[in-house]
Amino acid sequence: MYKALYRKYRPITFDKIVGQTHVIQTLENAIINNKIGHAYLFHGPRGTGKTSIAKIFAEAVNCTGNGPLPCHSCKSCQLIDGEQTTDIIELDAASNNGVDEIRLIREFAKYAPTGIKYKVYIIDEVHMLSTAAFNALLKTLEEPPAHVIFILATTEIHKIPMTIISRTQRFDFKKITITEMLECLNPIVLAEELTITDDALAYIADYADGGMRDALSMLDQVIAYSNGVVDIQAVLEVIGSVGDKTYKEMLDYLFTSNTEQILKLLTKISDSGKNIQLFVEEFLKYLLKVIEKGLTEQEEYPVDILFAIVGKLNQLAYEMKTAYLPYIALQALFLELSYTMSEKRAISSQPEKKPEKAMSLPPTLEVVDEVEKKQKPQVEKPLVEEIKKPQIEEQAQAKTLSAREDLTDLFNYDYFEHELSEDVNESIDIVFDFAPKKEPILTHLDTNANPDKKSTPISVKTAPKIIQEIKPQDIFDSELHIQKMEVQLQRVMAEVVIYPESNKLDRIKRKWQTISFDPNNQIAMMLQDMEPKIGTTIEVLLSTYNKSLANQLQLKINKIKVEEYITILLGQAYRVIVTDEGMWQKQREIFANKWRAHEVTCESIQMLAAEELSLEKRANIQESSNINLELEITETEIADEVVQDAVAIFGDIVKTID
Ligand SMILES: [Zn+2]
Repeated sequence: MYKALYRKYRPITFDKIVGQTHVIQTLENAIINNKIGHAYLFHGPRGTGKTSIAKIFAEAVNCTGNGPLPCHSCKSCQLIDGEQTTDIIELDAASNNGVDEIRLIREFAKYAPTGIKYKVYIIDEVHMLSTAAFNALLKTLEEPPAHVIFILATTEIHKIPMTIISRTQRFDFKKITITEMLECLNPIVLAEELTITDDALAYIADYADGGMRDALSMLDQVIAYSNGVVDIQAVLEVIGSVGDKTYKEMLDYLFTSNTEQILKLLTKISDSGKNIQLFVEEFLKYLLKVIEKGLTEQEEYPVDILFAIVGKLNQLAYEMKTAYLPYIALQALFLELSYTMSEKRAISSQPEKKPEKAMSLPPTLEVVDEVEKKQKPQVEKPLVEEIKKPQIEEQAQAKTLSAREDLTDLFNYDYFEHELSEDVNESIDIVFDFAPKKEPILTHLDTNANPDKKSTPISVKTAPKIIQEIKPQDIFDSELHIQKMEVQLQRVMAEVVIYPESNKLDRIKRKWQTISFDPNNQIAMMLQDMEPKIGTTIEVLLSTYNKSLANQLQLKINKIKVEEYITILLGQAYRVIVTDEGMWQKQREIFANKWRAHEVTCESIQMLAAEELSLEKRANIQESSNINLELEITETEIADEVVQDAVAIFGDIVKTID
């Protein structure tokens, strides 16, 4: 029988694990120094080695041999390897989530292990446990018998009660880097005597997005598909991707406004059964590569135009998730881009250059909506002839429809209501990150990492340069904007509570920590003072103590740049909501009260979304009419404000550094 590569090459000693060196080193030291804890929490994305490391650790704590841990030759190791012991217990909480199972564990945990030193419970997907089961587990963790070790593994730490987390040693598993992944894949390719091209293997490593298991299953699939030599084409076929060559072609057609070829290429992609959502996402990734090359090496295409395309595609990627006819939306956008490119060329050939023009493309979906009404979705060719320039503009003005209207469909699913179990009710406090921004609490893991950190005064850096020099308070302190903000915050909070599976805050926060705050990058410098408070699959809510910064970033022109930056950072398109801490705290409290009063429901989200849409339309009109209000804010003014804010938060430990 064929054994999946993932099972066949599962590592069995610590030194064979790829990545996660921070975890392994700590665990090995604990064993060597005989300082083994009673409960460990392994948290991280899927396929990053949580279960593998848990199994190795369970064997290693019991190992009595010498050499690499575990030795696989001593008596304990032999018992465990031969599955002759009942004291290493693996449990999948997804299928054993009841209180009875946990009570059984408590009962059984009392008895000492036979033949080995420690009884080890590995509970996978621990976030799936019911509240009652968590409480039962908590009782065991409160008074653990000396011979018992719990290893809890999860991909969704926000679903685990704080009371559990605080009783464990927590390890955050990182995504496996492409280099690490190749280090692991190459020997497997050799051992399996596979013929695979380097670029094909690199593509698999990249596509797996940090999950070793995904990389190996993909390799399995590709081998089964290709029957012989595995090249990039075979990989792309299996994934349903189209490859850089096609993206390059598309970009060339766009820059030459070759509408006919653009439509042909889109039809080709769609006809061959490729995933068009994936096409957009990968085209975005491709564009970012071209931009990066343009910025660091040489500019093949004008970078400012590429940024404008990224902005538009970004929006499309977001809208396509809820679009009624996503393929039409895709076609319309490319037509629009092609059209704008020809306009752009016409403008730049004139003596006076106005690069801003490229950014102000007519909104896409409005056009789409009209097109959909007029003709059947499958008729592709006539689109070119029918949509002429004046028509597009007319339609764009005549109707303003946003993706949010389509989103309401999403809220009509009844099953979400059933999913809203009491667990969600009880875990409300950990759904969001409610803690105010402060120094990180030092865990036992990093106590000696930076001993004098506390005494370091918080430095107040020079305020970032403002992208658009206007005074946004006048716009954002208006009642309309405040109201819009309130509704928006209530809506996103409700969404992550009602649809907990959409909550991706953890992932976003992890990425956030990797931002290198380059002083030459204005956006990065601004984001330094922002903290993600809510993150879903499509939106990120950022909050800051610096109200003037929040106002600046709420300006549409700046928000687009932030969204582009975050797309690069998170590798995916996001809509960004910016707020200030005062507003966030206040709205959070209001939300908590509404929640307690059972006023947060699917219907209430629908109403909030509708209200938000109408407020947003009005706010946009107000903003664009105020955009010419050019009042200068000097750097010192902002800097003073930052100092004041910082003093208000941290008290007199703040020292201004010149
Ligand atoms: Zn051993």
